[in-house]
Amino acid sequence: MIKKILVANRGEIACRIIRTAHSMNIATVAVVSSADRDSLSARMADEIVEIGPPPAAESYLRIDRIVAAIESTGADAVHPGYGFLSENTRFAEAVAGAGAIFIGPPPAAIAAMGDKITAKRLAKKAGVDTVPGHDGEVTGEDEAARAAAAIGYPVMLKAAAGGGGKGMRIAAGEAALREGFAATRREALSSFADDRVFIEKYIQQPRHIEIQILADSHGTVVHLGERECSLQRRHQKIIEEAPSPFLDETTRAAMGSQACALARSVGYQSAGTVEFIVDRDKKFYFLEMNTRLQVEHPVTEFVTGLDLVELMIRIAAGEPLPFTQAQVRTTGWAIEARLYAEDPVRGFLPSIGRLTRFRPPVEGQGVRVDTGVHEGAEVSIYYDPMIAKLITHGDDRAAAIDRMSHALDRFVVSGVTSNAVFLAALVNHPRFRAGRLSVEFIAEEYPDGFAPHRVAKPLATRLVAVAALIHTVTAARARRIGAPAQDSGVNHWIVRVGDTEHPVEVAPTDDGYVIEHPGGSMSLSTQWQPGRRLLTAHIDGETAVVQVAGGHGVYRLTHAGAYLSLEVLPPHIADLMHRMPPKPVRDLGRFLLSPMPGLLVSVAVESGAVVKAGDTLAVIEAMKMENILRAERDGTVKTIHAAKGDSLMVDQQVIEFE
Ligand code: ADP
Repeated sequence: MIKKILVANRGEIACRIIRTAHSMNIATVAVVSSADRDSLSARMADEIVEIGPPPAAESYLRIDRIVAAIESTGADAVHPGYGFLSENTRFAEAVAGAGAIFIGPPPAAIAAMGDKITAKRLAKKAGVDTVPGHDGEVTGEDEAARAAAAIGYPVMLKAAAGGGGKGMRIAAGEAALREGFAATRREALSSFADDRVFIEKYIQQPRHIEIQILADSHGTVVHLGERECSLQRRHQKIIEEAPSPFLDETTRAAMGSQACALARSVGYQSAGTVEFIVDRDKKFYFLEMNTRLQVEHPVTEFVTGLDLVELMIRIAAGEPLPFTQAQVRTTGWAIEARLYAEDPVRGFLPSIGRLTRFRPPVEGQGVRVDTGVHEGAEVSIYYDPMIAKLITHGDDRAAAIDRMSHALDRFVVSGVTSNAVFLAALVNHPRFRAGRLSVEFIAEEYPDGFAPHRVAKPLATRLVAVAALIHTVTAARARRIGAPAQDSGVNHWIVRVGDTEHPVEVAPTDDGYVIEHPGGSMSLSTQWQPGRRLLTAHIDGETAVVQVAGGHGVYRLTHAGAYLSLEVLPPHIADLMHRMPPKPVRDLGRFLLSPMPGLLVSVAVESGAVVKAGDTLAVIEAMKMENILRAERDGTVKTIHAAKGDSLMVDQQVIEFE
């Protein structure tokens, strides 16, 4: 049996692997970059070995240093997690060369599936349905145009070595195809050091449904059913679930057996995932096979009750799978949401900084939190911005979704902005609730971006009432501190949301309050006290959790995917406010402000330049991604306030217009 596992990864997946290893009484080694010396995985591991500076290319991607760590610690196995070196054949071979077991598939299987063109050919040969397309690489624009015409538009151009949603481009017609061909090649070369591109049919409004498989070294291959990962933003998964609300038993069984056939044909061992896209008629097509543990594996664990990391370790140690296909059972429904350090309101720009508060919801009772950060940790520009995965389980889909929504309401993150409110809005979206998913869901439902302050009336009314209550409780306490209690009367308030005013009355009752608002009345009870971030209330018999920020009459409330800023005023003050001259607003439109902290890579304009809306103004690098800042409207550049190479703070002035 394996005695010591070196985890060649970081963040939540490193912690996840360490947890299972310890439960099996296996010692652990974490290799860390200097930025991760004090990370959660470093704290959890039995030993740590520092392997280099923060950039992944100098640490987590350094095969030589990880091999040295295997040798110095005497680890007898390596788990690569996902990303980094997990699908690198040279790494798998180097681990074996160092005398340790690679907890993953044989290098030949990684190689076969690592190239999308080869993988597609092998899949076809194994009897798997693949996306109709041109077989093999297309080398020139004319060849691409001929292939696309034969397939029929729209088509998708894809990098053979692509991954992570990058190196893909849709072309609706020949002009777009010709234009996109060179761009896709360039992108493929710069991102994957391989410019081979192929073409396939673009399946419209598809769903992404994948099959989890497990194969041991004794020839047994089973599948654990599917995960639906259709909720994506720019081809990157955000919310995943198991089972899929779309599949019927026949389609599920067909996909499962094709996935197993493919795994068998490449001599697969360990856990792996065969990804398909499924069209509106439930026809499914092979996309690719990921030869590693997936980010979204916990939803499968929740419905099957299995520990995939444990099974990977046992398979790597040569044990046979302890169950057969017929013994695989799933119960209930599970959903996973990926919590990112990004600002959903500002175009999902990465948000970095110190997590001054990080309080996930309590685990257990169908709630699981996989994270790699702790309160006080720094979210840096060097790594993936995912800070946690929240996974919930319920007897059915609605129960799992309700649990997810409540758990998101309880997830407190401050210091960096998270996408929690967006995730909550997604899971509460009527179309999501109805299970009508597609990979274009987000583009279709949020064409102008995400605006959490535009909420349906019942939700807005609820938050208006809660704001009035918060202010009543706060005012009562202030009175108690100053003078004897005399807060038995009715409180009248004006709650302002933007330009709209809502007259509200808050009257105490024996066990709470009755709140009269323009739309009716509600009964509410809570034990909330000023200063608490979470307000749990029973509103008309239902429990709701609201996150409270702000104070002194201006409260920012977050709940169920809504985020509102509300001002609570006594009626006579509200009345006086009407007589005040309006506050002048600074014309921020005259400035290009840095939307995020980052490095100014280039400025595309000079003072005096005339720009048109949409023109590139500057490029900022943050979180390893280049973000292009474009002109919002036509104008003339007056002054450039920052220079190439500057490190910018959020909201720092970069360009001033006339
Ligand atoms: P990656 O390896 O970068 O993750 P995939 O091939 O797995 O790339 O595709 C990622 C996503 O891109 C899919 O989930 C789907 O949303 C979309 N996609 C890929 N190929 C097609 C296609 N032929 N038609 C429509 N959408 C596609």
